[in-house]
Amino acid sequence: MVHSPFSSSFQLGILGGGQLGKMLCQVAYQMDISTAVLDPDLQCSAAQIAKRFVQGSFKDFDTVLEFGRTVDVLTIEIEHVNLDALDQLEKEGKTIHPNPKALRLIQNKQLQKDWYAQLNLPTSPFSNHSSKLGFSPKFPFVWKSATGGYDGKGVSVVHNENDWNQLPDVPFVAEEMVDIQTEIAVIAVRNASQTTCLPACSMVFHPTANLVTQVVSPAQVDTPILQQAETIATQLINDLAIQGLLAVEFFVNARGQLLINEVAPRPHNSGHFTIEGAESSQYEQHLRGVLNLPLGSSRLKSPSVMVNIIGEPGFSGPVYYQGMEEVLGIPGASVHLYGKKETRPFRKMGHVTITDAHLDSAMDKGQRINQILKAISL
Ligand code: ADP
Repeated sequence: MVHSPFSSSFQLGILGGGQLGKMLCQVAYQMDISTAVLDPDLQCSAAQIAKRFVQGSFKDFDTVLEFGRTVDVLTIEIEHVNLDALDQLEKEGKTIHPNPKALRLIQNKQLQKDWYAQLNLPTSPFSNHSSKLGFSPKFPFVWKSATGGYDGKGVSVVHNENDWNQLPDVPFVAEEMVDIQTEIAVIAVRNASQTTCLPACSMVFHPTANLVTQVVSPAQVDTPILQQAETIATQLINDLAIQGLLAVEFFVNARGQLLINEVAPRPHNSGHFTIEGAESSQYEQHLRGVLNLPLGSSRLKSPSVMVNIIGEPGFSGPVYYQGMEEVLGIPGASVHLYGKKETRPFRKMGHVTITDAHLDSAMDKGQRINQILKAISL
């Protein structure tokens, strides 16, 4: 029997203890819902705030099984977890959200692409391959490893024979290059009977490096595109009967067409701004969905911009945040540091959300913060 999350013996288990896990624990803590986190790293972001921390691998069958048996409801903050253990726990009657069947599909980019095609939803043209053998590449194309990809690893733009030869021989998706005009994300949330969407956002890219520099909401796209994105996100979350969040990333191509890029069944980088910017944050909504509580209002309270604090290239070691005092002097800027002791080039160390009555002004502040705030090592 599942205890009420509002009884003192209840515990929510979270597989993964990164920043997403930490921010989920923060919301749970606010509502006095007890959390247990499993992560291999004793120093991980969530270890400091979880009610109970267990050191161990969320990819290991026995570790996940043992951990899962000790909690009332199990969720994730990273999708690359041991699914055989989740299947076994489900057989034993454990409540697991997102459900393991949905996770199995999402863990594999080939299955994800087939799923969009089966539902007749727009995505870039693709073909699936079990090995490099027998595939004649037409350059350029985008190569995506079927499994294991996360945060840009496992994705490669293949320009020529040389790039192609460097790639590992693993099952992959070959995707047509999209002429990307902009990228947007919609996060849907569902409990057992209700579905809603959080405010959409769009990404502003660095003009030269291919890096997202700002996440902005409201999304800077036309209303019909936004409505289509929300309809698709709702259809996808309902189709897999996911409880909790489903973040859906889209491309808008040069012809203004919306294409699904990929999905993640958990809190997402593109939803950080909802902590200050929306009536209920993505973390609170995930908690509500997973625990089958009434969903909150996701209304956008004010235009919002989020900038990631990324480890400065060229620095590795104990972190120092240069420029922090100046950032804290900017009205409407809220700083989140994830508690990672060591910086590494491009490591996600924290983020800053800027809320402002005017989006333009928030974006100017975001740009300034990107220029002055640096995660370095002395
Ligand atoms: P990950 O799972 O690592 O986040 P994504 O599939 O989101 O990988 O790809 C990372 C980035 O690569 C995207 O944000 C986009 O900028 C680029 N990208 C991915 N697929 C394509 C594509 N078909 N055409 C052009 N660029 C792409």
